[in-house]
Amino acid sequence: MKHVNHWINGTRVSGGGRTSEIFNPATGEVGGAVELAAVEDVDAAVEAAKAAFPAWRDASLVKRAQILFRFRELLDRNRDELAALISAEHGKVHSDALGEVARGIEVVEFACGIPHLLKGGFSENVSTRVDSYSIRQPLGVVAGITPFNFPAMVPMWMFPVAIACGNTFILKPSERDPSASLLIAELWKQAGLPDGVFNVVQGDKVAVDRLLEHPSVAAVSFVGSTPIARYVYETGTAHGKRVQALGGAKNHMLVLPDADLDLVADSAVSAGFGSAGERCMAISVVLAVDPVGDELVSKIVERVGKLTIGPGDQPTSEMGPLVTEVHRDKVASYIDLGLEEGAKLVVDGRETPVQGGAAAAQTPGFWLGPTVLDHVPANSRVHREEIFGPVLSVVRVKSYEEGLELINTGEYGNGTAIFTNDGGAARRFQNEVEVGMVGINVPIPVPMAFYSFGGWKASLFGDTHVHGTEGVHFYTRGKVVTSRWLDPSHGGVNLGFPTNK
Ligand code: NAD
Repeated sequence: MKHVNHWINGTRVSGGGRTSEIFNPATGEVGGAVELAAVEDVDAAVEAAKAAFPAWRDASLVKRAQILFRFRELLDRNRDELAALISAEHGKVHSDALGEVARGIEVVEFACGIPHLLKGGFSENVSTRVDSYSIRQPLGVVAGITPFNFPAMVPMWMFPVAIACGNTFILKPSERDPSASLLIAELWKQAGLPDGVFNVVQGDKVAVDRLLEHPSVAAVSFVGSTPIARYVYETGTAHGKRVQALGGAKNHMLVLPDADLDLVADSAVSAGFGSAGERCMAISVVLAVDPVGDELVSKIVERVGKLTIGPGDQPTSEMGPLVTEVHRDKVASYIDLGLEEGAKLVVDGRETPVQGGAAAAQTPGFWLGPTVLDHVPANSRVHREEIFGPVLSVVRVKSYEEGLELINTGEYGNGTAIFTNDGGAARRFQNEVEVGMVGINVPIPVPMAFYSFGGWKASLFGDTHVHGTEGVHFYTRGKVVTSRWLDPSHGGVNLGFPTNK
């Protein structure tokens, strides 16, 4: 049985007290335990991060970049091991776990450019013989609180940029799949990162609340569900912190009648059922504009029938189990709800065989196969609520305008996609849709590391998206210096407000 503890000041440490079970979602068995930090454990991490800050903020940009380059090489060499850890605790298939590691590494690569990213502005002679320049400085100790669904990538949206900017960092990973965080910590150490710059506290609400209240934590990045994102934003800002809190999602794919329906069906199935739908950028609703609905649904059903459901460590598996039994049951409950609300069940994932054997509902582990609900009413809960599992809804709409209206009146605004061959319609969509990340014939439009990731409305609390230049902005604060070196022309005392005469 593995035992997952904290990483504070460059070493693994155990706190006292509470633990939580870590499951293997493919079998339902307990594979180990993770410690749940007490307030004192969080305080120890904050003290370590605080002590490491002065030297780290003074480390030259070149030295920081060199450590990031070494860290990037170590991540690259350990891709498989990281992916295996993720797959064992989260359930996603190995190739998918490798994908999240790859996208995380891209943020490290972006952060390697920190000497360039932190360049300020300089204006000579803003007044006579007076110069002005702007600089951006790190905040101090910053924290990241992350969800279960990307145990490597989402933390890597945050800490490479934060650390490159000169901050010290405390990661509070999800207690469901905590092991990747400790391997990442060891790789940082091997890369030469000074002790205390990167710390991990495992835990639950107790750890989160302490990070939100601790006077020495300057900023908090959060990714998770909307109710907790709202709570983290409100509590953190009430304690004077800078907070960016990314929440849940309900992503629509709008399919216009001129779209290539084979491309649409491939994309809907990939984006709906990859990672068992446990992605904040998963497509959860297909808005089929008349008259494509019947043909599109039959193409989707045909593809879903060919998917192989099985454990993440089997090379033939395309989709693994869900993360916990509670979550699987919640997702499955939406199938019955959909039927009650008038939808038509065209593929029932409870009946899907796992590895060609028994039906998902009868197999030990947290299984639910890909499910398709057609003719889902627009005002139903199945359409409106985040399900976060392998349940794809098809809503029939009469026009582009009706589809757009459904997207724009939704609670969330994380991702969306339009499928069409009409460039004018696509351009109109990117202009009119109230969503932060938009795909045009691209089903999962996750921005590259050098752009910034983030949604609108209930998908983001705060005003700064993660990574890219907005990430650099979030983890630094601006300062403007106005300087004059004495020369014989200084004009003596003047109590008037400085103006440029
Ligand atoms: P979650 O909100 O349950 O947990 C996220 C983090 O908050 C975890 O570290 C958890 O320990 C902590 N937490 C949980 N309950 C808490 C409480 N009451 N008080 C304080 N902290 C608490 O989310 P999850 O189930 O781990 O992840 C899935 C959710 O994350 C989905 O809603 C998904 O859409 C969202 N998500 C969003 C994005 C995005 O970019 N917007 C990305 C990934 C996941």
